[in-house]
Amino acid sequence: MRGVVRRKAEPVAPHGVAGTAVGAEFSDRLITWQRSHGRHALPWQNTRDPYRVWLSEIMLQQTQVATVLGYYERFLQRFPDVAALAAAAQDDVLALWSGLGYYSRARNLHACARAIVERHGGEFPRSSAALAELPGIGRSTAAAIAAFCFGERVAILDGNVKRVLARLLAFDADLARPGNERALWTQATALLPERGIEAYTQGLMDLGATVCLARDPSCLLCPVQPLCRAAATQSQTRYPVKSRTLKRGQREHVWLWLAWRERIWLVQRPDTGVWAGLWSLPEFDSIDAFDAASARWPGDVQPLASFTHVLTHLDWTLHPVRWTLPARTGDARVAAITAHWGRGRWFEIGEALEAGLPAPLRKLLTTTLATAAS
Ligand code: SF4
Repeated sequence: MRGVVRRKAEPVAPHGVAGTAVGAEFSDRLITWQRSHGRHALPWQNTRDPYRVWLSEIMLQQTQVATVLGYYERFLQRFPDVAALAAAAQDDVLALWSGLGYYSRARNLHACARAIVERHGGEFPRSSAALAELPGIGRSTAAAIAAFCFGERVAILDGNVKRVLARLLAFDADLARPGNERALWTQATALLPERGIEAYTQGLMDLGATVCLARDPSCLLCPVQPLCRAAATQSQTRYPVKSRTLKRGQREHVWLWLAWRERIWLVQRPDTGVWAGLWSLPEFDSIDAFDAASARWPGDVQPLASFTHVLTHLDWTLHPVRWTLPARTGDARVAAITAHWGRGRWFEIGEALEAGLPAPLRKLLTTTLATAAS
């Protein structure tokens, strides 16, 4: 009879790819639970409008639902669709975001809206892969939008979901290592249901937010408790594993592309440290510092897509902004502005591209100029 008797599903072995039997039982349990016990009345639910889903996903990053609710409503009233947001002044977007924190999200939101209008005719791309190409939309956010709005069968893996799956699978590999995180993505994909991706995705979010809490998971109320390897061994708080020793430094700057009469102002970096001696853009420690310095400058500012440059010891997030001084601005006024930085001078664009530039700056210049020319 061996091989004929149907065995009860066993907990998933650590690091093993989730088997289809367990995957199916996991998703069945989660979907059933979400439909009866999950959240259904949040203002960004019950819609397939990607603008609304995207806005909520960005606002909910590192922010509680209760905090987001008021901002979400005000934002929608002021910018009811992606075209309205793209057409807005960045100051207006930041003002409306004020108090929500993590302002790079607001700048990226604005840059993303503009990219959708400029590159996609005002329509959100319908695949997670294309969504993930847009400013500020990471893999998990792209997957959530694609699953909720377009029914794509694709895995999410935000911080809460990492915790749920790491516990379920007793996934004890260090998630500080990118290779291990990729392995968890593989597991998350293997667990996807054949049908019901919306309820499944929402169920994972709801479970992470309301039951499988970081410090005190409510395992007795958990629909997947019979499958959970961490619960079976009472080792819930051991997961997810993320070492501190591997924690990398973080740095964040506003990066100023100052333009005047078809030229760009570059500064030569110090002879030691990151990008030593290369020509680069002036940096500001914060948007407040940038705003203070530029408060009386003439001209127009244009936010460009933020990005994180990965160095060996450091993740450096840069928020480029292009400030174009009017051509009529006199030499003395311009000299007063640029006097702020030593070791700087104006470059023709062609000359700048010939100079020693950090790779991200070269890429920024070439892609922005190519986009403008197309
Ligand atoms: Fe999280 Fe407990 Fe459910 Fe396991 S049983 S997924 S630890 S809440």
